[in-house]
Amino acid sequence: MYSPSLLYHAAHPRNPGRLPEPTATGAAWYLPCGDRMHMDFQIAHGRVQDVRAQVYGCGAAVAAASAATELLHGLPEEEARTLSSITLNRALGDIPAPRRHALWMVLECLAQALGPRDLQTPQGGSHAWPHPVRRRG
Ligand SMILES: [Zn+2]
Repeated sequence: MYSPSLLYHAAHPRNPGRLPEPTATGAAWYLPCGDRMHMDFQIAHGRVQDVRAQVYGCGAAVAAASAATELLHGLPEEEARTLSSITLNRALGDIPAPRRHALWMVLECLAQALGPRDLQTPQGGSHAWPHPVRRRG
Protein backbone atom coordinates (compact mmCIF):
# COMPACT_ATOMS: atom_id res chain seq x y z
CA MET A 1 0.00 0.00 0.00
CA TYR A 2 1.31 3.43 -0.91
CA SER A 3 1.79 5.97 1.88
CA PRO A 4 -0.07 9.32 1.82
CA SER A 5 3.23 11.07 0.98
CA LEU A 6 3.89 8.79 -1.98
CA LEU A 7 0.33 9.15 -3.26
CA TYR A 8 0.58 12.93 -2.93
CA HIS A 9 3.83 13.16 -4.90
CA ALA A 10 2.53 10.74 -7.55
CA ALA A 11 -0.60 12.83 -8.06
CA HIS A 12 1.12 16.22 -7.79
CA PRO A 13 4.74 15.92 -8.99
CA ARG A 14 6.97 18.81 -7.86
CA ASN A 15 9.38 20.52 -10.29
CA PRO A 16 8.27 18.50 -13.34
CA GLY A 17 9.76 18.80 -16.83
CA ARG A 18 13.20 19.70 -18.15
CA LEU A 19 15.50 22.69 -17.64
CA PRO A 20 16.28 24.68 -20.81
CA GLU A 21 20.02 24.84 -20.07
CA PRO A 22 21.01 22.35 -17.37
CA THR A 23 24.61 22.30 -16.19
CA ALA A 24 24.26 18.58 -15.49
CA THR A 25 21.79 15.91 -16.45
CA GLY A 26 21.17 12.25 -15.70
CA ALA A 27 18.81 9.59 -16.99
CA ALA A 28 17.68 6.15 -15.90
CA TRP A 29 15.56 3.41 -17.41
CA TYR A 30 13.93 0.49 -15.66
CA LEU A 31 12.66 -1.80 -18.37
CA PRO A 32 10.76 -4.35 -16.25
CA CYS A 33 8.40 -1.55 -15.21
CA GLY A 34 8.67 0.54 -18.39
CA ASP A 35 9.97 3.56 -16.44
CA ARG A 36 12.04 6.39 -17.87
CA MET A 37 13.45 9.22 -15.74
CA HIS A 38 15.42 12.36 -16.60
CA MET A 39 16.78 14.75 -14.00
CA ASP A 40 18.19 18.15 -14.97
CA PHE A 41 20.33 20.26 -12.64
CA GLN A 42 21.39 23.87 -12.53
CA ILE A 43 24.50 23.96 -10.37
CA ALA A 44 26.09 27.29 -9.51
CA HIS A 45 28.33 28.45 -6.68
CA GLY A 46 28.53 24.84 -5.47
CA ARG A 47 24.80 24.51 -4.91
CA VAL A 48 21.76 23.04 -6.62
CA GLN A 49 20.05 26.22 -7.78
CA ASP A 50 17.35 24.38 -9.71
CA VAL A 51 16.40 20.80 -10.42
CA ARG A 52 13.65 19.26 -12.55
CA ALA A 53 12.51 15.71 -13.15
CA GLN A 54 10.68 14.26 -16.11
CA VAL A 55 9.29 10.78 -15.56
CA TYR A 56 7.29 8.40 -17.67
CA GLY A 57 6.42 5.39 -15.60
CA CYS A 58 4.81 4.04 -12.47
CA GLY A 59 3.52 6.16 -9.61
CA ALA A 60 6.46 5.24 -7.41
CA ALA A 61 8.97 6.50 -10.00
CA VAL A 62 7.03 9.75 -10.45
CA ALA A 63 6.81 10.21 -6.68
CA ALA A 64 10.47 9.38 -6.02
CA ALA A 65 11.68 11.92 -8.57
CA SER A 66 9.27 14.52 -7.23
CA ALA A 67 10.35 14.06 -3.60
CA ALA A 68 14.00 14.03 -4.71
CA THR A 69 13.68 17.43 -6.37
CA GLU A 70 12.32 18.85 -3.10
CA LEU A 71 15.14 17.32 -1.08
CA LEU A 72 17.84 18.39 -3.55
CA HIS A 73 16.78 21.97 -4.15
CA GLY A 74 19.30 24.36 -2.59
CA LEU A 75 21.63 21.63 -1.32
CA PRO A 76 25.41 21.93 -1.62
CA GLU A 77 26.50 19.85 -4.60
CA GLU A 78 28.34 17.33 -2.42
CA GLU A 79 25.25 16.67 -0.30
CA ALA A 80 23.12 16.33 -3.43
CA ARG A 81 25.60 13.89 -4.91
CA THR A 82 25.45 11.66 -1.83
CA LEU A 83 21.71 11.79 -1.14
CA SER A 84 20.88 8.42 0.36
CA SER A 85 18.13 6.06 -0.67
CA ILE A 86 17.19 5.85 3.01
CA THR A 87 16.56 9.59 3.21
CA LEU A 88 14.56 9.50 0.00
CA ASN A 89 12.58 6.46 1.07
CA ARG A 90 11.77 8.14 4.36
CA ALA A 91 10.50 11.24 2.56
CA LEU A 92 8.15 8.98 0.64
CA GLY A 93 6.83 7.21 3.72
CA ASP A 94 8.49 3.92 2.75
CA ILE A 95 8.04 2.66 -0.81
CA PRO A 96 6.72 -0.91 -0.97
CA ALA A 97 9.57 -3.32 -1.80
CA PRO A 98 8.34 -4.19 -5.34
CA ARG A 99 8.54 -0.49 -6.26
CA ARG A 100 11.95 0.40 -4.78
CA HIS A 101 13.49 0.53 -8.25
CA ALA A 102 12.17 4.11 -8.09
CA LEU A 103 14.85 4.91 -5.48
CA TRP A 104 17.56 3.32 -7.61
CA MET A 105 16.51 5.38 -10.62
CA VAL A 106 16.98 8.64 -8.69
CA LEU A 107 20.42 7.54 -7.47
CA GLU A 108 21.40 6.57 -11.02
CA CYS A 109 20.37 10.00 -12.29
CA LEU A 110 22.36 11.65 -9.48
CA ALA A 111 25.46 9.56 -10.24
CA GLN A 112 25.32 10.40 -13.93
CA ALA A 113 24.71 14.09 -13.36
CA LEU A 114 26.88 14.86 -10.35
CA GLY A 115 29.44 12.05 -10.36
CA PRO A 116 29.83 8.79 -8.52
CA ARG A 117 29.55 8.53 -4.79
CA ASP A 118 32.34 6.64 -3.05
CA LEU A 119 31.70 3.01 -3.89
CA GLN A 120 35.17 1.71 -3.29
CA THR A 121 35.78 -1.96 -2.86
CA PRO A 122 37.88 -3.25 0.05
CA GLN A 123 40.70 -3.70 -2.47
CA GLY A 124 40.63 -0.01 -3.26
CA GLY A 125 39.06 -0.32 -6.70
CA SER A 126 36.02 1.72 -7.52
CA HIS A 127 32.75 0.86 -9.13
CA ALA A 128 32.61 1.64 -12.84
CA TRP A 129 30.11 4.45 -13.14
CA PRO A 130 29.90 6.47 -16.32
CA HIS A 131 31.59 9.83 -16.22
CA PRO A 132 29.39 12.75 -15.21
CA VAL A 133 27.52 14.29 -18.11
CA ARG A 134 28.14 18.00 -18.02
CA ARG A 135 27.74 20.68 -20.59
CA ARG A 136 29.52 23.39 -18.65
CA GLY A 137 30.52 24.42 -15.16
ZN1 LIG B 1 8.21 1.51 -11.87
